[in-house]
Amino acid sequence: MAQLAAKLISVEEGFIIPEVVDELARIAGGVPSMKSGPIAGPFMPRLLDIGAGRIAEMDADGVAVQILSLSAPGVQKFAPDVALSLARLANDRLSEAAKAHPDRFAGLAVAPPQAPVEAAKELERAVSRLGLKGLIINSHTGDEYLDDPKFWPLLEAVEALDVPLYIHPREPGAGLWDGLMAMTGFTVGWGYAVETGTHALRMIAAGVFERFPKLQVVLGHLGEGIPFMLQRIDNRYPFEIGVTGKAPLPKTPGEYFRGNFTVSTSGMNFAAPLRAAIDILGADRIMFAADHPMENQKAVVADYMAIPLTDAERRQISELTARRVFKIAA
Ligand code: MN
Repeated sequence: MAQLAAKLISVEEGFIIPEVVDELARIAGGVPSMKSGPIAGPFMPRLLDIGAGRIAEMDADGVAVQILSLSAPGVQKFAPDVALSLARLANDRLSEAAKAHPDRFAGLAVAPPQAPVEAAKELERAVSRLGLKGLIINSHTGDEYLDDPKFWPLLEAVEALDVPLYIHPREPGAGLWDGLMAMTGFTVGWGYAVETGTHALRMIAAGVFERFPKLQVVLGHLGEGIPFMLQRIDNRYPFEIGVTGKAPLPKTPGEYFRGNFTVSTSGMNFAAPLRAAIDILGADRIMFAADHPMENQKAVVADYMAIPLTDAERRQISELTARRVFKIAA
């Protein structure tokens, strides 16, 4: 493989295991839909391959390392005991793939928020014993979000293990469902960002980052719209808090976002929004993602490489931010 100036690390790359496919199909009654998860898509052969075929495509497309995570909605739709055993199985398989190809794959653990104490224990096993690099949660769990203190034992474990939490989209929760799912054709491009961006802001609003100040969260899609709204959010926050008489947070929403969040370029490898995100967050809070196999990895890498960046920005976004956030040795 030709050596690039920077090794391209791609941080939001999907996989699945047959046992999870079977359970997703079972609870969906075998009917694929936007709600049933990846059984709906033509992506299955690539999702199931965490070996030679995937590496051959990475070589052909110029991706050095993929950071893999169980495809949305992960195990979050399953009964807690089923979710826990499938999470263990998925984490074991992912760890085996990463150990078989340590210079090509790293992985994020999955753990069921619907069983937060057991999930915290599984995360500890996955990080400490299996060598996985963080946790992925696919937005809401049973229409509930991580601002709810019932989930905080899991956040406490994420912070204590000093690994990042990647909050990935899924179909909108009940509170947003009617408006967003009615817009056929816009559910992913707009609805996922509203769902997942709202999730992140709920966490800020609830004081999650006061309770867990070292917690580091990763958002895909250049921050699910938040960076582009951050100045307006910061500008209106003190006004609105003042009107309601509520106690303000010690920091501005933007200070939490810049201090506790990193974003990836999944689905957003476009020049104008990437330049805006660099201006607003800095390249050291941005990292490349292809979203393989949901997006065409070859086309995405070509799009990304065509975006005008300085050499320092390119190296930071291609490689250095990801190495720092996920603790991947050079
Ligand atoms: Mn994705």
